[in-house]
Amino acid sequence: MAARDLDAVIVGAGFAGLYALHRLRGLGFSARVLEAGEGIGGTWYWNRYPGARCDVESMDYSYSFSEELQQEWKWTERYSAQPEILKYINHVADRFDLRRDIRLATRVTSAVFDEGTGRWTIETDRGDRLNARVCIMATGCLSSVQEPKFEGLETFRGRWYHTGKWPHEGVDFTGQRVGVIGTGSSAIQSIPIIARQAAHLTVFQRTPNYSMPAHNAPLDPAYERQVKAGYAEFRRQARESRVGFVIARSGDSALAVSPDERQREYERRWARGGLGFSASYADLLTDQTANDTAAEFFRAKIRAIVRDPAVAETLVPRDYPLGTKRLCVDTDYYATFNRENVTLVDLRKTPIEAITPDGLRTTEKAYVFDSLVFAIGFDAMTGALLAIDIRGRDGQPLRKKWEAGPRTYLGLTVAGFPNLFLITGPGSPSVLSNMIVSIEQHVDWIADCLVHLRDDRRQTIEATVEAEDAWVRHVNDVGHMTLYPRANSWYMGANIPGKPRIFLPYIGGVGVYRQKCDEVAARGYEGFVLS
Ligand code: FAD
Ligand code: NAP
Repeated sequence: MAARDLDAVIVGAGFAGLYALHRLRGLGFSARVLEAGEGIGGTWYWNRYPGARCDVESMDYSYSFSEELQQEWKWTERYSAQPEILKYINHVADRFDLRRDIRLATRVTSAVFDEGTGRWTIETDRGDRLNARVCIMATGCLSSVQEPKFEGLETFRGRWYHTGKWPHEGVDFTGQRVGVIGTGSSAIQSIPIIARQAAHLTVFQRTPNYSMPAHNAPLDPAYERQVKAGYAEFRRQARESRVGFVIARSGDSALAVSPDERQREYERRWARGGLGFSASYADLLTDQTANDTAAEFFRAKIRAIVRDPAVAETLVPRDYPLGTKRLCVDTDYYATFNRENVTLVDLRKTPIEAITPDGLRTTEKAYVFDSLVFAIGFDAMTGALLAIDIRGRDGQPLRKKWEAGPRTYLGLTVAGFPNLFLITGPGSPSVLSNMIVSIEQHVDWIADCLVHLRDDRRQTIEATVEAEDAWVRHVNDVGHMTLYPRANSWYMGANIPGKPRIFLPYIGGVGVYRQKCDEVAARGYEGFVLS
């Protein structure tokens, strides 16, 4: 690639990388995007499993940076499906002429800071060697799939798939015996659809999940008109909210109201559907007793939907508070277990021993499958970053610095790694939010920072160790004020064997966090050294 002496290299061409390119270009910076996939779109390029769609509503889950774009684009459903989101991303790339600076099918393998020149050298699996003043990691929080490591997988004679790397031509399960391993969001979206195609579906569940009905529907034209008439204000409120979209809160404490009133409130939210449930009361994620009221409501719903009481009991989550693993949003998930052709296997009682040439063997019995679907998730938040050999001052590897867990200042920067920026990195609200809001906030902050450096004739910006230590402490303190650490979730790194147990995102809230970042900038980049 004949692209030396760039202002910035951006790694990843999902929502984050594309917006970063657009912003930087608009400010007169030269930038290139390097993307491992053969197409743009990130999450929405890779995750093509049946039923893949967002669970943040379409009018919220979209870019806000262009008034023309948000007025022109028409979403068709309350929650957009993967093909429509991918179409939108491609439209954005064309509309803003982004493709000419994106290099596809190119995986970044290393990024090394040179103290002599104050610049980054970025190498790829295609032998490119790029040189840039700034390196922006837009590598995604849920882009590094957890590969299945089951004994005997290589002997399996059927076909197997990971939801996060789904074949582009699609998969037709008609007439097949299918096994799905995992019951997180990806599984919960795909299971009802696979069940309708397959001759028989067996679901292997390790931990039951709390899932809300989506009540997906065509987008209400009156609602669309209303949002578009005041989109700027709608977006402002989202930016200042806790999670990047506005959810009405019913009260401070679930325990301050009568059981009847609480029940009515939970029913109202269940009938509306979607992620708003865990915001019903302010203490649902901080007080176990309050949380129990909501969890019990869910348990009763599952028992009411699933006809076989033994199956219902297996599907009922018990050993972690509601919302501390990401709440799922589904269409007919629990009801799918009423189908004749669906079987649920509780891996807590009968763990998988091995994959066999014909299927799979648990401690109890052997199963025969034509296809296996691994819906086992991702090495979240740090996986894609640590897959790259990133080296800062004195050749220090990020892998070494983060051995005991990620350390960042604001989830945006790392002490010892000048001019390296992370978009939605660990220590920022990131995966606890409508991620497009968080992505735009980070990109805008980085863009403003680069303009400041240019105007001030500075070469580098670097977080101080003190600022980083204080931020890590704060992220940890706030995280431990909640119930989140009580779950073995990917937020805690618990889904990856050997990964340090740290609460990875920042739970202080999108609005509060934005204010903090803005204050840091307004105080002349407090906590940073500019040189
Ligand atoms: P990504 O979209 O993950 O893009 C990162 C890109 O970087 C990828 O294309 C990857 O190939 C590339 N990359 C990584 N490493 C390298 C490398 N070394 N070299 C070159 N390229 C590299 N969020 C929500 O807010 N609401 C939702 O409803 C929602 N639904 C989701 C559904 C699914 C199935 C998944 C997996 C995630 C969902 N998310 C949702 C989170 C979603 O990841 C974000 O909303 C958003 O798409 C992230 O954009 P991104 O650009 O930061 O990262
Ligand atoms: P996930 O939430 O991590 O779920 C993985 C599932 O696989 C869990 O049920 C897990 O069980 C199970 N599992 C993992 N390893 C296993 C093993 N070795 N044996 C048996 N079971 C195993 O992953 P995901 O469903 O792909 O979702 C990840 C995140 O992506 C979501 O939380 C969400 O943020 C996002 N997402 C969003 C949507 C959406 O609705 N918009 C859809 C998909 C994904 P344990 O719980 O016991 O670990």
